[in-house]
Amino acid sequence: MSHVFFFVFSWLRGHRPPLWFALLLFASPALAATKAIKAGRLIDPSGRVVTNAVIVVENDRIASIGTTTPAGAEVIDLSRFTIIPGLIDVHTHMTYYWDRTPGTRPLNQPRRPAGVTVVLAAENAQRTLETGVTTVRDLGAANETDYAMRDLINMGKMVGPRMFVAGQGLSAGRGGAPPQDFRQLAEARIAAGSDWVKIYGSRGSYQSVDTTQTVSYDDMQSAVDAAHAKNHRVAIHSYGPSGVKDAVRAGADSVEHGIDLDDETIADMVRRGTVWAPTIDHNRYYAEAKDEFGFAPDTIPPLQAYIERNLDSTRRAFKAGVKIAMGSDAVYTMFGQNTRELGWFVKAGMTPAQALATATTIPAALLGHERDLGALAPGYFADIVAVDGDPLVDVDVLINNVRWVMKGGMVVVDHIGAGGTGRAGGAGR
Ligand SMILES: [Zn+2]
Repeated sequence: MSHVFFFVFSWLRGHRPPLWFALLLFASPALAATKAIKAGRLIDPSGRVVTNAVIVVENDRIASIGTTTPAGAEVIDLSRFTIIPGLIDVHTHMTYYWDRTPGTRPLNQPRRPAGVTVVLAAENAQRTLETGVTTVRDLGAANETDYAMRDLINMGKMVGPRMFVAGQGLSAGRGGAPPQDFRQLAEARIAAGSDWVKIYGSRGSYQSVDTTQTVSYDDMQSAVDAAHAKNHRVAIHSYGPSGVKDAVRAGADSVEHGIDLDDETIADMVRRGTVWAPTIDHNRYYAEAKDEFGFAPDTIPPLQAYIERNLDSTRRAFKAGVKIAMGSDAVYTMFGQNTRELGWFVKAGMTPAQALATATTIPAALLGHERDLGALAPGYFADIVAVDGDPLVDVDVLINNVRWVMKGGMVVVDHIGAGGTGRAGGAGR
């Protein structure tokens, strides 16, 4: 500010201001806040393709989509590309970080101070942005490290996707522990700063596909009612069908994982609008990363069998009209593969456009952000992704051909030198 005052002051006194003052002023990102993105092809909120559109971005939002470039705007030429909304991954564990040091494994790392974990996990956040994912729902983290990442990203102090976080997930006490009050547990999570409440309703994780339900219907119901009373939403993890059924009946907003869903549960999900994140691809990842994790060879066939049943239930649920969302369940070295789930969704019978909706409009509504996330439209956050090719013909274009990403008006990935890297303020939620 003092530079500006000096500039004005010296100009008023009839002194010619040095050129560098003018450069300083005009180089200031705050003064170059209007950006005009030339989109060769753009997928609009209805899934239609619009050619040669100009997206005007003011600060962190889309101001308009039309055909003219406003005078003075910074032009970003993406006319060779197809432009899609920033994608949403509804199931990550962003703070699960491994530095790949030989002789160590992701699951037996030395305990780190929470602050160290937060700084290291910025790499997971950057890898996620590279896939075109600009928003995540993070479903489980220790020591409030997810709150820290969420807040630092919203302040513009860390580069990463917008995060909606659950903190520590709720789970049943270990054998012999006294029964827990799930209403109190849910309220405590929300009071501590969780956006979402996550419940581990069954066993099953990493190389284990144990489907045993661990949280009762009544406990699920208590947590859901407590969260909904405070206008927060609930995601329930269940590997097996009984836990999925109870989670849906208890009013969970989304259910994570699951196999062998029966017709009654599927019909209940359709009726209630429950969103299902089947997370098919995460078991593909565990099978492929078995040596990093040190999984025993006999754990791999059950993972593959789970994938087949997971895919089969996804096919049946989608056909019946269940809302399905892209959740990677990314941990450790899976960041950067966040969108491979979309390939499974096409195998389950979706068109590429329907698969795109699982990472845009459907999760935006799940997050309660259907009016500012998941679409390219005026008033929405300027979360904008350029892909090379036609994602409505080939889903692999979404998965493999992301070239440029803007999040909240700020360019966060640029593999084409398109410019527009000036920072914009207020990348908030
Ligand atoms: Zn998970």
